[in-house]
Amino acid sequence: MTTRYDVAVIGLGAMGSAALSFLAARGVRVIGFEAASPAHGLGSSHGDSRLIRLGYFEDPSYVPLLHRAYENWRSLETRLRERILHVTGVLQIGKPDSKIITGTRASCNMHNLSCDELSADQMRKRFPVFGLEDDEIALLDPQGGWLKPEAAIWGYLRMAAADGAALHMGSKVDQIDPDDNGVNIVAGEHTYRASKVIVATGSWISQLIPALQNIANPIRQVVAWYRPANGFATDPVRMPAFLRDEGENGSFFGFPEIGPDGVKIGRHAHFMESINPDAPNPAVNDADRALLDTFAAKSLPGMDGRRVNETTCRYTMLPGEDFLLDHLPGENRVIVASPCSGHGFKFTSVIGEILADQATKGGTDLPVDAFTFDRLIKAAEHAKATKTEELVLPR
Ligand SMILES: Cc1cc2nc3c(=O)[nH]c(=O)nc-3n(C[C@H](O)[C@H](O)[C@H](O)COP(=O)(O)OP(=O)(O)OC[C@H]3O[C@@H](n4cnc5c(N)ncnc54)[C@H](O)[C@@H]3O)c2cc1C
Repeated sequence: MTTRYDVAVIGLGAMGSAALSFLAARGVRVIGFEAASPAHGLGSSHGDSRLIRLGYFEDPSYVPLLHRAYENWRSLETRLRERILHVTGVLQIGKPDSKIITGTRASCNMHNLSCDELSADQMRKRFPVFGLEDDEIALLDPQGGWLKPEAAIWGYLRMAAADGAALHMGSKVDQIDPDDNGVNIVAGEHTYRASKVIVATGSWISQLIPALQNIANPIRQVVAWYRPANGFATDPVRMPAFLRDEGENGSFFGFPEIGPDGVKIGRHAHFMESINPDAPNPAVNDADRALLDTFAAKSLPGMDGRRVNETTCRYTMLPGEDFLLDHLPGENRVIVASPCSGHGFKFTSVIGEILADQATKGGTDLPVDAFTFDRLIKAAEHAKATKTEELVLPR
């Protein structure tokens, strides 16, 4: 006899592993499918570190979700008895009228968050690794820091298994067929049955959710690690993680020396190069290296670093860069978990809770009004009409 599950979670990367764990902890009969292995190198959730920060420059409306995400990360750590979230501060650097500076300030003011302003001179004295122009400033978010993505995913999977979830690793779902009473889930030669499914397949999302074809855009992302000549200046107790607004040259992110390869840096959305999610990511090339080496030399002169490692990863961009956490229109048995446009990892711990609420209660009390299909379609239409790459829907 086929076991019938209450919920099936497809894709056990960041979002799926968290959802599986929240569901299992509630005693829900849940099964998870992962085509590859946890935090594998072709997804979006490997590479040692992800930024977390509270004064969210993207939009102040994310701050309540971030408060909950911090709480949930701490609960995960308590249960795992392992550190996942490291609070070392995050510096946001740019010209006073840049998006990162004005946006961070707006979030901090609206939500009464600490946000210390440092002039270029003060930065030189306090954090000598960074090179600032005289007309740049930095805002220090003392609650910011970094997360360990691989440990978080493994942790959520271990907890889900301990709470009774069925985990099918190396099992790719080929098809989902909802009907009046549930959903058939076809994986190879096997068919499973669940009352609801959560699709959290990252850069492969439009394969099971065709409504997202031409909307969800998987792009190539590149990061590199630099071994500093001066390890003193890049130690995590002396160098916060950072974001840097370079105006028309985009925004860059980076981490102190938290692993053997040293300081990691990347540019948000890199060259916005679309990729085929089924093909291996195109290898790191000279243009990628030139971009990151130039940034390292100019912006982190105190590091005097030598590139020792590099890798590719994927973002999956949605118009407007907001999330999508909603039932598929006209289909209340299918919930879609967005791959989050390159800024979702920090929210994993609250997105897992939201998805579990949506699957068990049909909705959530957490603030998700901005993350609907309806809104996404409007953002896509706006982007098409204005032909913007930035794809920002006015709020
Ligand atoms: C280089 C880089 C830096 C980033 N930096 C930050 C940061 O500093 N802060 C931040 O908050 N966010 C950051 N992000 C974004 C964040 O990491 C992603 O939003 C998040 O990891 C996406 O998780 P996901 O679960 O959607 O995708 P994934 O973790 O890729 O998981 C999707 C999973 O679904 C599986 N799958 C696909 N199809 C199927 C199928 N048919 N059947 C079964 N399984 C399937 C895949 O194998 C995969 O494991 C960064 C991303 C990258 C790439």
